[in-house]
Amino acid sequence: MNEPETHTSNVIRHLYVHFPFCARICPYCAFYKTRGNAAEVARFCEALIFEARRVAEKFPLMLETIFFGGGTPTVLSTAQLKNLLELFHEIFDLGALREWSIEANPGSVSAKKAAALRESGINRISLGVQSWDNQLLNLLGREHHAAQAEESFHIFRSAGFSNISVDLMFALPGQTETQWRGSLQKTIALQPEHISTYCLTYEEDTEFLARFARGEFAVNDETEARFLDLAMTTLESAGYEHYEISNYARPGFRSEHNRAYWRGADYIGIGPSAFSTRGFERWQNIADHNEYARRLFANESPITSIEKLTPTMKRTEHIALGLRTSEGIVVDTIDQNQAEELISDGLLARRANRFALTRAGKLLADSVAEELL
Ligand code: SF4
Repeated sequence: MNEPETHTSNVIRHLYVHFPFCARICPYCAFYKTRGNAAEVARFCEALIFEARRVAEKFPLMLETIFFGGGTPTVLSTAQLKNLLELFHEIFDLGALREWSIEANPGSVSAKKAAALRESGINRISLGVQSWDNQLLNLLGREHHAAQAEESFHIFRSAGFSNISVDLMFALPGQTETQWRGSLQKTIALQPEHISTYCLTYEEDTEFLARFARGEFAVNDETEARFLDLAMTTLESAGYEHYEISNYARPGFRSEHNRAYWRGADYIGIGPSAFSTRGFERWQNIADHNEYARRLFANESPITSIEKLTPTMKRTEHIALGLRTSEGIVVDTIDQNQAEELISDGLLARRANRFALTRAGKLLADSVAEELL
């Protein structure tokens, strides 16, 4: 138990690295994260390297993409980041690597750090701006303000990053369409290569869900659809391709790492709480950075659960994830009568041997997926 099978010869081309620490905890966030002290962070980095060596020995890897997320990896000092990334170069063969992203928080960016990231081989930045409105940033509990986010963007550009993604959130409590339009326009003016727009969801075990339960916040499907519609119109007319419900890119700048997830490719995740999927197996590391480090130092597995995936589960995922993308899903994965109905309702369109959501379908993506599952 707690060790995935290794009989499949599938080469792994995608690596996710979960860094579990943040300077401040956002009240809506459901990722595994915590505020660690310096000793905990240092111990974790050491354990992460142990795990990296472990997976490099165990799996046939030919990495094409790495996503260093969390948490907030940029809370590490410049020296810590350099050291960690150098060790990645030592442990993994990065000869085939095309995309190496890091999540950056505007509150923890400096010119020195940005230069070090660039020199270490990172070639894509995912900048967590979320909003350009200070009042909303305050509500979201973010540690940065709008001016800092703008400065961070310019710091990364000056450091030579030619692939920057800006993350934005919409349907926030009290957010108006005018504010959302303003946020989109402000982002476009900076000319990032990629923009992610996430609808706020109220996740389990978050302060925002408790506030939602108390009636302080409400969800309105029509408002969410209007915000999504506004994002599509504004970003597409500025030259961004809407290639996944939450993601827009200039031609040639789609996120290769995320596309791998959406098309169901195998990947390895390292760090506490990280998932991995290979063939018909999915496993997860323990979501506790202390226990994670203890196990690795004791030469024990950090894996806490292994799930066997069935062809039905794989099909469900292909529909749920594929439908969100502009590439869509393979025609014979769904019932043809249902597909015809959705086509005549104007929600689905056929292109060669794939079905994809139409513009109207994108506004009802979840219900269309539900109908097909
Ligand atoms: S910075 Fe990101 S990972 Fe950390 S608490 Fe906020 S949303 Fe979550």
